Amino acid sequence: MANARVLIADDDQSILQTMSWVLKEHGYDVVSAREGRRVLALLEERAPDLVLLDIMFPDADGYQLLERIKSDPRWKDIPVLMVSSLPPEEAAVRTLGLGAADFVKKPFRVKELLARIQAQLRMRTILRSANDALQDAERELERVREEAENRKKLVDILHDVSDDLSSDEIYHLLARRVARALDLTHCAVIIARQGERPRVVATAFEQRTADGLELELDRYPEIRAALETGRPVLVEDVQTSELYAEARKRWEREGTNVTIRSVIALPFALDPTQAGVFFLRRSLSEPPLEKEDVEFADTVVRAAVTTIQRAKVLEMTKADNRRLEQLALTDPLTKVLNRRALTERLATEIGRVNRYDSTVSLLLIDVDHFKRINDNHGHLVGDDVLAEMAALLQNAVRAVDVVARFGGEEFVVVLPETGKPGAVAFAERLRELIEAHPFARGPDSTLRLTTSIGVSTYPTPGMETAEELLAGADQALYRAKAEGRNRVRS
Ligand code: GH3
Ligand code: MG
Ligand code: MG
Repeated sequence: MANARVLIADDDQSILQTMSWVLKEHGYDVVSAREGRRVLALLEERAPDLVLLDIMFPDADGYQLLERIKSDPRWKDIPVLMVSSLPPEEAAVRTLGLGAADFVKKPFRVKELLARIQAQLRMRTILRSANDALQDAERELERVREEAENRKKLVDILHDVSDDLSSDEIYHLLARRVARALDLTHCAVIIARQGERPRVVATAFEQRTADGLELELDRYPEIRAALETGRPVLVEDVQTSELYAEARKRWEREGTNVTIRSVIALPFALDPTQAGVFFLRRSLSEPPLEKEDVEFADTVVRAAVTTIQRAKVLEMTKADNRRLEQLALTDPLTKVLNRRALTERLATEIGRVNRYDSTVSLLLIDVDHFKRINDNHGHLVGDDVLAEMAALLQNAVRAVDVVARFGGEEFVVVLPETGKPGAVAFAERLRELIEAHPFARGPDSTLRLTTSIGVSTYPTPGMETAEELLAGADQALYRAKAEGRNRVRS
């Protein structure tokens, strides 16, 4: 080892000189001590790579010095070669036992001494690099452990975040879990839609009233910066951060008592029209947020965004499906149930009546001389009248009743839990209601019309199906028409 520094400690001046000269000749950097008490001071000052130590000094004891060196964590790895004229059988055993690297008997042979010094220095280099490698390995292990810990936290956080949840529920869940994982008192999710002010959509512990709150970006420079750059913003201390210079002036002007210490604003993109920010804060009484917290939260959020995007697509699909379903069951002109939906409802009702030994009644309502309305006022007015009629019926029935367009100018009202007399009475009220109602005929005139209504009730002896229930009402309606219209028959 070139320029290795060797500390020689010996009370014999001539030995000290000889050894110094020899070692210097061989390229070593030499430090020497004649007194034992200088040894520790030189160890401290010159940090030698190797020590040649005599055992007997007038002012100190080599064994004790050796012990002292070996017990100090700064020096314990420095090889100490004992050089002594004491009989090796005793001194060598004792010093090696105390941690000496080697024992060299005086008088020494130069070649042998040099070889032993070299061997020890080589050994030390190997040991050192092994030590470094060990430390590297330990650091790597720690990193992997931490990463695994983070991954576990991540899995914990994203656990339950499934496609079944709405994106709103996911935001709330994430806000709460990220807050818990990072020990935050404040955690909020903010969504910014194109052309709208950013809005809080979820909070962890802050009052729920914050949900839906619109944000003034002037007051949140970190959120603005995150949205503008698309990159996480970390403010370790709001009292010193450049980003908060303006905000601090305002706090002072307004006398605001700021309890927040540090802030992370973590942006994420949902789709081209909306972006969001995870807004994490710690108050003065807590340790500041750091770079590692940003990394962790960023990993969580990136993983979550995929799920949120999936949930959004699913929400849209579900909403579309609901709309389609609704469409398939609704009459487009009158917005009441269509005939297909009515057939399904009737089957359900009949089943319910059979199970619970109850009753259901049905009104078949047909507009009198409707053809004339079309003929006299035009088909469009006819359409409007039908829509108005549906609305009138829908308005008149109970929540449990069902209004449907049976076809043309015929409507059906299903009355669960209603027997014949109740149904006839209700039909009569409807007939009067319609007779008295002024239907719109264009923007500024009205017209009147009447209806004939057939009533049938299930169960009735001989009647078994929904079709038979409808046929019963149809026969009653026929009688109402035949007997002069504008009346109820059953
Ligand atoms: P009645 O008193 O015997 O019931 O006479 P009515 O004219 O009401 O009976 P009819 O069944 O002969 O005529 C029904 C008319 O309803 C025929 C048809 O043109 C009209 N109609 C059916 N559906 C619609 C619709 O959606 N819009 C309009 N404007 N008219 C319709
Ligand atoms: Mg008709
Ligand atoms: Mg008619």
